[in-house]
Amino acid sequence: MLAEKLYEKLKNITVDNPLCNYTLERCERLAPIAEEIQALKQEKNALILAHSYVHPDILYTVADHVGDSYGLALKAKKATEEIIVFPAVRFMAETAKILNPKKMVIDPNPNGGCSLADSITADDVHALREKHPDHTFVCYINTTAAVKAACDVCVTSSNVYKIIENIPNDKIYFLPDKLMGQNVQNALGNKKQIKLYDGSCYVHEEFTTSEVQSLRKSYPDLSVLAHPECSQSVIKEANVVGSTSQIVNYINDHKSDPNPFLILTECGIASRLQVENPNLNLVGSCMMCRYMKSNSLELILKALKNPLPSQIISIDPEDQREALSCVNAMFKYLND
Ligand code: SF4
Repeated sequence: MLAEKLYEKLKNITVDNPLCNYTLERCERLAPIAEEIQALKQEKNALILAHSYVHPDILYTVADHVGDSYGLALKAKKATEEIIVFPAVRFMAETAKILNPKKMVIDPNPNGGCSLADSITADDVHALREKHPDHTFVCYINTTAAVKAACDVCVTSSNVYKIIENIPNDKIYFLPDKLMGQNVQNALGNKKQIKLYDGSCYVHEEFTTSEVQSLRKSYPDLSVLAHPECSQSVIKEANVVGSTSQIVNYINDHKSDPNPFLILTECGIASRLQVENPNLNLVGSCMMCRYMKSNSLELILKALKNPLPSQIISIDPEDQREALSCVNAMFKYLND
């Protein structure tokens, strides 16, 4: 029964990547795995938090919550279950562990990286702090626990503008995403002086202004929604800039608008929007994150049944304490 239901839900996904498209046969293969995960979740008192970029079959069968890194961090903070399984990328599972040191947090896909999180180490941050002792060090959530432990305040794409504006120090060192940092500097003007590290997201830096401009010629009333990890020239072309959840919320509020939408973020958002709003007029192509898409129902099942040591998140206790203070500073500045 679940296979037909799943196929009914996912058959409307037309984003141009075979990994995102579903046949009834594919759903028949996946459905029994999802059912086994559902039973194990109950038996082991586990919660599954899934980022919107992972495969839609994970989002629409076993995930308890789907969202962006900020929304999922909040869900992790409030979790009452004994185990949190986090199909996404390593730094997100680490953030759940930072917020829940006593719970078992499982990363089903421990080999999945992230071009941002992998671009900087805690030693790099310590060396930068020696060079720039008067700066507040702000890290994007896309960093390891050790890097967070070496920084002052963590931000996510949904709150980076507000938090940097709220930090009393005007001298900010933002890491590791230079594109997001440039976008924040452009938005805040001379209110803040922001030094940038040289990392970038290999998915979002691929979007170009020429693609946006050529689509605007074909669709003069195009609405362009872009993630702040895109370049500043792409951001200038956007009607709306926001995190994945902010993009989804914007579309849900405007889904009856007749104009077409171009979504400049990972393919997971376009496919999620097509599932939830089958009549939505989406145009253009999307980019796929190989790290997020290397999660699967099979890996989640294996990890829930019998997690390998590499799938269980463990953080050095000192890093744990300092990284928690960095993440808690995000909640503090958000409410200021
Ligand atoms: S989309 Fe970019 S920032 Fe997000 S996990 Fe993939 S590489 Fe990292």
